Amino acid sequence: MTLDAHKETLEFQAEVSQVLNLVIRSLYSNKEIFLRELISNASDAAEKLRFEALTDDALYEEDPELEIRVSLDKERRTVTIEDNGIGMSRQEVTETIGTIASSGTKKFLEALGSKGDSDAASQSQLIGQFGVGFYSAFIVADKVTLVTRRAGLGAEHGVRWESTGEGAYTIETVEKAGRGTAITLHLREEEDEFLESFRLRSIISKFSDHISMPIEMIKEPMPSAEEEEKEKPEQPEQPEWEQVNRGTALWMRNKSEISDEEYNEFYKHIAHDFEEPLAQVHNRVEGTNEYTSLLYIPGRAPFDLWERDQKHGVKLYVRRVFIMDEADKLMPHYLRFVKGVVDSDDLPLNVSREILQHNKKIDTIRTASTKRILGLLEKMAKDDSEKYQQFWKEFGRVMKEGPAEDFANKERVAGLLRFATTRSEGREETVSLDQYLERMQEKQEKIYYITADSYAAASHSPHLEVFKKKDVEVLLLTDRVDEWLVSHLHEYNGKPLQSVAKGQLDLGDMDDKEALEKEAEEHKGLLERVKGVLGEQVKEVRVSNRLTDSPACLVADEHDMGANLQRMLKQLGQDAPQTPPIMELNLQHPLVEKMDQEVDEDRFADLSRVLFDQATLAEGGQLEDPAAFVHRLNKLMLSLSA
Ligand code: ADP
Ligand code: MG
Repeated sequence: MTLDAHKETLEFQAEVSQVLNLVIRSLYSNKEIFLRELISNASDAAEKLRFEALTDDALYEEDPELEIRVSLDKERRTVTIEDNGIGMSRQEVTETIGTIASSGTKKFLEALGSKGDSDAASQSQLIGQFGVGFYSAFIVADKVTLVTRRAGLGAEHGVRWESTGEGAYTIETVEKAGRGTAITLHLREEEDEFLESFRLRSIISKFSDHISMPIEMIKEPMPSAEEEEKEKPEQPEQPEWEQVNRGTALWMRNKSEISDEEYNEFYKHIAHDFEEPLAQVHNRVEGTNEYTSLLYIPGRAPFDLWERDQKHGVKLYVRRVFIMDEADKLMPHYLRFVKGVVDSDDLPLNVSREILQHNKKIDTIRTASTKRILGLLEKMAKDDSEKYQQFWKEFGRVMKEGPAEDFANKERVAGLLRFATTRSEGREETVSLDQYLERMQEKQEKIYYITADSYAAASHSPHLEVFKKKDVEVLLLTDRVDEWLVSHLHEYNGKPLQSVAKGQLDLGDMDDKEALEKEAEEHKGLLERVKGVLGEQVKEVRVSNRLTDSPACLVADEHDMGANLQRMLKQLGQDAPQTPPIMELNLQHPLVEKMDQEVDEDRFADLSRVLFDQATLAEGGQLEDPAAFVHRLNKLMLSLSA
């Protein structure tokens, strides 16, 4: 016996025990899904074998017929799911079964924690966002035995893993003649229903009919009333296996023959998701580049949506053989949440990642698939705005990366964006740019927006005062990615996008320019005095046409970086050009009128500085010297009573 063969008892990673308990508790009402999950894994294992065997035929070990077998033993009260797929080495078992490798696990548990005493339904929703598939075995089993051997390793490299799911597992090296994995569930007392062959068959046809390799069970003798009375016949030496699923790749079937349930179950399998998708689009393309694509929009954003390397995206098949999970080759980054299958008839089977990088056929598939998804979303937005709103809530922030990334589809992606505006209810993003255009004022020429780091800061900003007065709608942009978005989306449908906090406000014909110029001329002295006090802190002091209620505000020069973006970059530790803002004064405001009369230079200076600081605060900025601000304000307040 080699050292490696020794039997070890190992502790689960702490998180595993936690997740396990949770899985059992929250998925109990849906317990039959254990079979779906284990069959899904068996099918993945078979596909991996088929792929690896493309370059190493010996892996088939003279047993090239891939299949999954489900059997039961009423006496021992076990159900066994066996595959002749790729199998696992001892190390792989420890790494994949004893731990939850995904970096999402921690976030998952944090999310659970933050939900406090959340109910089972919301817990199972959370679980649905993680691949805890294998552990679902413990919903119905109080002991699980897994025996596996990696294809290509000798029979002496089998591995036996066993656990009651209570914190520890054992692992030992054993003999296993055939490659692949057999998972035996020792059913809990109350789970007798799964010892009935017909029950298992109906679960398989409900959940796993689309699995593209045969799932077999032992043929049952037709029970007749008389026979049941008789002595049980001797079990035949060789049981006769029969296929219980359809066993053809779902995406190759005719659209019109696939039910919604079948589409949904297939989605759960390939996306490793427990929940239903929002929508799918299924196409067959003929011609010089023949392929089939079946693409889904998930119902919920996965926890790793913001992480760089995602596992399950759009899978590439070549003539039904799984090649790889390559979200980034088949979909642009901003559509990385899309799941599904592309099956090409024309790519070579030995296609590598490098080849994919510069492959014309792949480029064509990617371009067409992108258009299909955009089309699907446009249709959803038009036909079912509630569903679209759900989509937007989950994936809106990712979609906002689109205009920067996908130049060719910029306008289409922009049409799919949704925003909170000064006219929408609350902070929810519901307004499309088309809606905005439709209700623009007669003489309005631009699409106005404000960026800020919170909804409150945006919606209460002094910059909006004149817009509210003139009933001009303004988009309220408060996601970080919004700054990125507006730096790439300069217009929509021929109308430029304009920040309300940048440049000289030009409301076009809605403005009374002459009056403004006249005012500026009359108060030239005041403007110069304030600039004299503030010095380098401001680029310019000028008369405002934006304000109705506030005495002053700060704006960026047309081509300077906005204050919100400057702050954001600073927070991220990046260098941002610190360009001083322009200060605008509201000459109608009593405070500004008073200042104009102020003869005491000290008081004038204090007032100017307080106004500047207030304007900084009002747009969500931070004061360089907050104590000095407080001190000045107190001084002015005291002088009130004097
Ligand atoms: P997921 O399928 O989402 O990766 P699971 O919990 O279902 O998560 O499975 C965890 C891992 O265990 C799989 O990724 C795979 O590496 C391994 N595994 C599970 N079942 C099998 C099997 N039948 N054959 C080979 N590997 C398996
Ligand atoms: Mg799985």
